Amino acid sequence: MSKIIVIGSMNMDIVNHVENHPQPGETIKGWGTAYHPGGKGANQAVAAARSGGQVVMAGAVGTDSFAGKLVSTLQDEGIHTDFILKKEGTSGIAFITVDSSGENTIILSEGSNGKFMPDDLVRIFGMLESGDIILAQNEIPWQTTEYAIQTAHKKGVHVILNPAPAVKVPKQLFPLIDTLILNETEVEAITNTPVPDINQARMAAKQLNESGIKEVIITLGKNGSLYRNQEGLDIFTPSFSVNAVDTTSAGDTFIGAFAVESGLGHPIQECLQYATAAAALAVTLKGAQSSIPTREKILAFLK
Ligand code: ADP
Repeated sequence: MSKIIVIGSMNMDIVNHVENHPQPGETIKGWGTAYHPGGKGANQAVAAARSGGQVVMAGAVGTDSFAGKLVSTLQDEGIHTDFILKKEGTSGIAFITVDSSGENTIILSEGSNGKFMPDDLVRIFGMLESGDIILAQNEIPWQTTEYAIQTAHKKGVHVILNPAPAVKVPKQLFPLIDTLILNETEVEAITNTPVPDINQARMAAKQLNESGIKEVIITLGKNGSLYRNQEGLDIFTPSFSVNAVDTTSAGDTFIGAFAVESGLGHPIQECLQYATAAAALAVTLKGAQSSIPTREKILAFLK
């Protein structure tokens, strides 16, 4: 079975509820303080692990009191954590404040995620085998992600990139990317063209294929997703109609689930259907990692 190596972020999400967001200089009362392990890297790793993938997490936590929890949460999912480094200082922390109307503000303090450098990948790249998959995002220094893509490609490792938060991926990297998975905002950052509908998404995917990316998946929220590869195969997968209560980890769940299915070598339509079902289940529950479904649950939903 191919290993899925996630090279990315781990954050502690600290959530507080308030009546109204504070003004500058103001101190206000908050309640319902909760701590949730998150970060795009960790969320995608959890999604892949719950889908039955053999997952290795590579990234950095700090030397603060959150570090242990960030690592043990992944271990509880059966994720291999030996390649998570400790960097002096704080771990990644997202300070999330939700007001009475549900509107949130987020301060993302990258902490140790910002200290994970290309040199930190040497040990993990020593154990990569062709047929493995790397899964990268944009919540660690871009130079590290770029180095990971270049090195993985040289070793014949399948590269999946989710350029989130949005980043203008340099064109010279395109031929090294096997699968680019991105949402509407992220595709606009790369192509400079908004994708308000499926036809625009189709054109954007075609442009990315022609610039060197082997396969592109543009996710369109409740409007589903569009897959296109360099051979011109084009697949639209509608989303499942579900009662969506929190779409926080829809994309991360889709990506982690897709990585596992494609690693198993299943036909592309099946991989897309599986990932779409996983994401649909994730939006029916509140929370990020807590809402990510298991393989069993996804297969039962698809029956
Ligand atoms: P991101 O979280 O990265 O913005 P999207 O919002 O595009 O990603 O969602 C990823 C996938 O999750 C979509 O392609 C779709 O399959 C599924 N999804 C998202 N929102 C819903 C929804 N409201 N109902 C059902 N499925 C959804």
